[in-house]
Amino acid sequence: MYLKALDIYGFKSFADKISLEFNSGITGVVGPNGSGKSNVADAVRWVLGEQSAKALRGSKMEDIIFAGTEHRKPLGFAEVSLTIDNSDGTLPVSFCEVTVARRVFRSGESEYYINKTPCRLKDIHELFMDTGIGKEGYSIIGQGRVDDILSSKSDNRRQIFEEASGIMKYKVRKLESEKK
Ligand code: ATP
Ligand code: MG
Repeated sequence: MYLKALDIYGFKSFADKISLEFNSGITGVVGPNGSGKSNVADAVRWVLGEQSAKALRGSKMEDIIFAGTEHRKPLGFAEVSLTIDNSDGTLPVSFCEVTVARRVFRSGESEYYINKTPCRLKDIHELFMDTGIGKEGYSIIGQGRVDDILSSKSDNRRQIFEEASGIMKYKVRKLESEKK
């Protein structure tokens, strides 16, 4: 399983639709300060369901929509699609390619899609649970997170190990059944 493509439109500095393709090896993203490198990482976090504007370096969710420039009008919505190669079947679905997408309008609410079918945020969470992908997974390690892993409370560390060992879904199901 690996990240195969990222399509971005209207997200932060990306006013035009861009398609980034990744291979199974290592990819480096380089560019001058302010050129949008971190915005690419933010787009990945966002499409995986990030709900915190602060985590995306904004103050409200609307800040992630292209705000316009002197020569260009602001856009009305942002959309990001992330495609994963699932030929090894790591994700619990029978597709060898899985695309998750998220769209948000200035009015607020986000729409989520898995392979073009509308779904809930919960479905996106379930798809990636125990795979290490997802906004709570360890596939994105931001600055400072390394310190967290080394020195945070044992409960937080335990969560990372639970996700890595693949038992998170059982824990979540247990908690849900206790609520009913
Ligand atoms: P550095 O090397 O300094 O870390 P970077 O390549 O990571 O830079 P980013 O932080 O990804 O740069 O991009 C910052 C740019 O994105 C800024 O120029 C900022 O104005 C622009 N930007 C952020 N949000 C929006 C938005 N909603 N609309 C338009 N531009 C935006
Ligand atoms: Mg940066």
